[in-house]
Amino acid sequence: MRSSGPVRAADEPGAGVDFPPVANGLDYLVSVVELLAVGEDAVSPRNLKYAVLHLQAATEVLLKYRLYREHWTLVLQNLDLTRMNKNKKMTRALFDGGDFVSCTPEETVLRLRNIVGLSISEEEQKQILSLAKSRNALQHYGLTDSEGSVEARTAEVLDFLIRFLDEELLPRLDEQERERVEDDVQFIRSGLTRIRAFVKQRMERLMDKLAPHWERTLQCPDCRQWALVARGGPTQCFFCPATADPQWTAWNYATYTLRLPWRDPPRTHDLFSQPSTPPVDGCPDCGTDTLVQGAITFASRDRPTNFCFNCAIAFPDLCEICSRPFRAVDEQSICGNCLSLGSTDAPE
Ligand SMILES: [Zn+2]
Ligand SMILES: [Zn+2]
Ligand SMILES: [Zn+2]
Repeated sequence: MRSSGPVRAADEPGAGVDFPPVANGLDYLVSVVELLAVGEDAVSPRNLKYAVLHLQAATEVLLKYRLYREHWTLVLQNLDLTRMNKNKKMTRALFDGGDFVSCTPEETVLRLRNIVGLSISEEEQKQILSLAKSRNALQHYGLTDSEGSVEARTAEVLDFLIRFLDEELLPRLDEQERERVEDDVQFIRSGLTRIRAFVKQRMERLMDKLAPHWERTLQCPDCRQWALVARGGPTQCFFCPATADPQWTAWNYATYTLRLPWRDPPRTHDLFSQPSTPPVDGCPDCGTDTLVQGAITFASRDRPTNFCFNCAIAFPDLCEICSRPFRAVDEQSICGNCLSLGSTDAPE
């Protein structure tokens, strides 16, 4: 372990603007790698706990530093100069003295996207924000994870942060500063490779367990592994490991794994606009909104299908009449519904 305990620069009174946030963020990341890239047996619950905490701290420092480079006021939670604040109004001097409340993780990502104009995908945003949630869960309930999902999630966030460093932060450092952080960046890069290797090893061990379920195994929206199994009723990710309501899983899968856009409500002249809806459909068999079109099962990874997370089966065919997904028996090209309508409309 490195002895230099991570310090939240922005929270340090008097730290001001001269704090070296990039070096500070890298310090946290070095710690994350040291905690996780030690081989599975050596990763204790304590290691996991600090890895999550430090990864979140690193993310916060690095993302906020990019906001700061745009303009220092973007880091503030609130900038309301007209309102008579009980105590004081924000000034640069207060900011420089570290005397301010900074914006939430959600707000940070939104500002980076909408104001700075960075491309941060929905999925990356989810990974970043779920870190904040696991940090909270860990502080309130304690977190036990013997199954490696912390490593898998960490790998995703580290991957994002390394790219963020390469594209947004390192090019803005001067020569000398860059040299100072070079070793750390290199250490983190190789750490990511080692963490990925553990994730892979663990996935290989899960293969036997998953093998009977390939036809209903899909890519998990949380850990990104092909370990999400629909079983009829609650779904289960063998990697995370977590179970979830099939409808919740269908929404998350469509939104984060397939990255399908949510659907706009039909235009109406109502006073109140309707919210957009998740990109899922009613299942032809069970009728619940758990059918995802274009889903990919492990069994047929090169052929997208339509999958119901509640029934745990695919409906690979489209009806020639109503174009809704159905499961053809024999060579049939019309769904049961249209077939029965047809037979009553036009009896032979
Ligand atoms: Zn998972
Ligand atoms: Zn169904
Ligand atoms: Zn039909």
